[in-house]
Amino acid sequence: MAMQRVLTKEVKLEDYTGIVSDGLLAEATRAAERLTGLRVVHVSATPYGGGVAEILKSLVPLMRSVGVNAEWYAIEPDDSFFRVAKALHHCLQGGSTDLGRDQIELYLAHNERAAGALVTMGVTADLWMAHDVQVLPLLHYLGTTSPGVWVCHIDTTEPNELASEVLLSYINEYRRVVVSMPQYHLDGLDPARVSIFPPAIDPRSAKNVPLPGHRARQLLASRGIDPARPLVSQVSRFDRWKDPWGVIDAYRLAKEEIPGLQLALVGAMTAKDDSDALEVFTSVQQYAGSDPDVHLFSNPLVIGDLEVSAFQSGSDVIVQKSTREGFGLTVAEAMWKGTPVVGGDCGGIRLQICDGKTGFLVADASSCASRIVTLLKDRALARRIGDAGRESVRRNYLIPRLLRDYLELALTVVDSKKPV
Ligand code: UDP
Repeated sequence: MAMQRVLTKEVKLEDYTGIVSDGLLAEATRAAERLTGLRVVHVSATPYGGGVAEILKSLVPLMRSVGVNAEWYAIEPDDSFFRVAKALHHCLQGGSTDLGRDQIELYLAHNERAAGALVTMGVTADLWMAHDVQVLPLLHYLGTTSPGVWVCHIDTTEPNELASEVLLSYINEYRRVVVSMPQYHLDGLDPARVSIFPPAIDPRSAKNVPLPGHRARQLLASRGIDPARPLVSQVSRFDRWKDPWGVIDAYRLAKEEIPGLQLALVGAMTAKDDSDALEVFTSVQQYAGSDPDVHLFSNPLVIGDLEVSAFQSGSDVIVQKSTREGFGLTVAEAMWKGTPVVGGDCGGIRLQICDGKTGFLVADASSCASRIVTLLKDRALARRIGDAGRESVRRNYLIPRLLRDYLELALTVVDSKKPV
């Protein structure tokens, strides 16, 4: 077993001047001054695909740019391990699972090997940051005296109790646990250990630089979308909690009023840890049937950052009809491009969308359809909501804010001598 060091591009905090407030940049710089040279090691399941990789791709180089010695490692892909980890992820989000002791042992053993690999590679840290359930037990096996932070990126509004049974002792080894919202909890977790701040998007990444309308339409046309007709898209991994079937239901209802409507479900299968994606995709494909106006995209060779940007910039409405969502970077990404978003009324989508002002929150397919129709018919409303959404993201969900929050968290952890 080897661990992969993930290399990232260079970025500078100054590059965000004029995009976020000077006050925020100053806060991040001030916190960083007391952390110069601190060795922070982030560990995640995968170097690309999904929200965590997207965040670390920008956060790690930004930490480095302010003098923190940050590195990022991803674990070696292993199908049976990722299947168990995904089942635990479902469990944390409230799903049921029939995981046996053997599978839990496999999950723990993979983490033990990953920790051993880091030790063999000579990787040391003043502060460990483990992201999500896949690498949660890592700290236990590292045998380190340095503190750890566990970042739980998912929606634990109503976790299945099996999750706390299996995971709680590992969680309690961390000095701090980061969640995105106050509503997220786990039985047995001491609230004093919990830090609450949501993720953020990088306005300077290729994916988030808004494309001019004509360029977006041109790209979408090259992917088979008719630029002369309305388009609704959901950009998401093919995952049961993202409810792609419900998006198709909403599209079908909306199409009764807007006959020219097209739908794109965009979910490039890149995340190696996403063991269910193919199964969900096949089911969605069958559900979509032979409607020529429903376009499914799963090939990472066809859908890269530019295409994601084109769908988010060039769609008339973006839907994110999740039933659980830790945060939902895709919501912030679409709002940042000024595109109105209709989102499932849950988790981090509820945090991001102020219903009727910065987007719409919906509980089911029929309300989703009616909001889509409203936005397609009332273009002035769509523009107002798109503008308000972009401004809300600028103020709350851009990466320098996340950098500041992580740095301030690091300060509290490395300054304190023992667990809080
Ligand atoms: N994403 C992508 N290509 C796709 C689908 C999604 O690059 O075809 C990206 C998306 O732009 C976002 C991330 O994957 O940056 C998904 O993060 P989110 O928080 O929305 O959901 P997660 O996958 O972590 O549950």
